[in-house]
Amino acid sequence: MAVKKCEIVLVGGGHSHVEVLRQFGEQAVEGVALTVVARDVHTPYSGMVPGYLAGHYSHADCHVDLSPLARLAGARLVHVAAEGLDTQKRHLRCSDGSIVTYDLLSIDIGSTPPASNIEGAREHAIPVKPIDQLLSEIEALEKRYLRQSGPFRVLVLGAGAGGVELALALDHRLRQVAAGGGLKVTIVDGAADILPSHVGAVRRRMRRALAERGIDLELATRATGFEAGVLHRADGADLAFDAAFLVTGAQAAGWLGESGLSVDKDGFVEVEETMRSVSHPDIFASGDVAAMKGHALPKAGVYAVRQGPVLAQNLRRAALGQALIPFQPQRHILALISTGDCYAIASRGRFAVAGRWVWRLKDWIDRRWMARYEVG
Ligand SMILES: Cc1cc2nc3c(=O)[nH]c(=O)nc-3n(C[C@H](O)[C@H](O)[C@H](O)COP(=O)(O)OP(=O)(O)OC[C@H]3O[C@@H](n4cnc5c(N)ncnc54)[C@H](O)[C@@H]3O)c2cc1C
Repeated sequence: MAVKKCEIVLVGGGHSHVEVLRQFGEQAVEGVALTVVARDVHTPYSGMVPGYLAGHYSHADCHVDLSPLARLAGARLVHVAAEGLDTQKRHLRCSDGSIVTYDLLSIDIGSTPPASNIEGAREHAIPVKPIDQLLSEIEALEKRYLRQSGPFRVLVLGAGAGGVELALALDHRLRQVAAGGGLKVTIVDGAADILPSHVGAVRRRMRRALAERGIDLELATRATGFEAGVLHRADGADLAFDAAFLVTGAQAAGWLGESGLSVDKDGFVEVEETMRSVSHPDIFASGDVAAMKGHALPKAGVYAVRQGPVLAQNLRRAALGQALIPFQPQRHILALISTGDCYAIASRGRFAVAGRWVWRLKDWIDRRWMARYEVG
């Protein structure tokens, strides 16, 4: 059945939206005009980012190019960041002052670490997202490391999977460019242990990997503020650093809540299992930016990936006025956590294994995912 005319606007080229583009490219819906509003035309694939930081992948290996994908889907690509929403007029406001109108809006813009709750973090620490900004900060850091004689101290604030992977990847990368070099990487967290969402067997394996690499852990440590080159702690034992990274959880862009959309306490868009906003039926959200009612899903790329096919179907169904289908999250997901040196730990529920073969499996899965979005 054909629809009369429906403008679907995708905001952000995250993991779900690349699948929406691919599916609309395979099968267009008559009468539907598709637009993608994207801050970055080359969108990073989270699974391969730590491997890229460690030096195992090129930029092209782990970034999806939205231009050919949009062309395949017959979509208009607008290379600009969205920064406001008028839900009454159905206007998306963009950073260049332009306005994009929609009949259906879908948001997949990810999240950023909340810097505001630690004084001075915004000025003196590097947030792990946006990833492209992180990548250029790391290139600058590498040059500073090569110039500096004596100790070079890197702090990573946050001992979840993202923080631990970042610490190991940075350590590997910097040791490749200059062995020794006085490098000391330290992970800092207020919690008593690393990887809080994983079982003891995974934590033990990761602790062993960190110890073997000489990466220090400062746990049960409350960070109270940053100044240039110093992290202040509640116990007074301040830590000096040459570079500090923030991998401290996730928050959403402020303009979402300001628009009147129903959001949770961290600003994430509250959605039904169909990924439709609980407050605005013409708006969908997916990936990190979505908070699904009845499910406390971790902010992990694997959910954004899994939600992609359901989102694609539901946008199509909403345009055609058909009933939507629910996303059913798995109770346990397979997490493959890399240690920077072509070794990885697999974690699923109570199950844990590790080895070089796990890294090879991860590499195979990740490259296969990327290949789905290469338009040749
Ligand atoms: C170091 C690190 C390692 C990680 N490793 C893993 C892993 O191995 N496995 C895993 O499952 N998860 C991992 N994660 C988590 C993962 O990165 C996120 O959960 C995932 O990226 C979320 O996908 P998304 O589609 O919601 O958003 P994103 O991947 O962040 O994509 C959002 C897109 O929207 C665009 N955008 C942002 N703001 C705007 C705007 N205002 N207007 C227009 N466009 C915008 C961005 O350019 C980007 O392309 C890791 C995170 C970190 C920090």
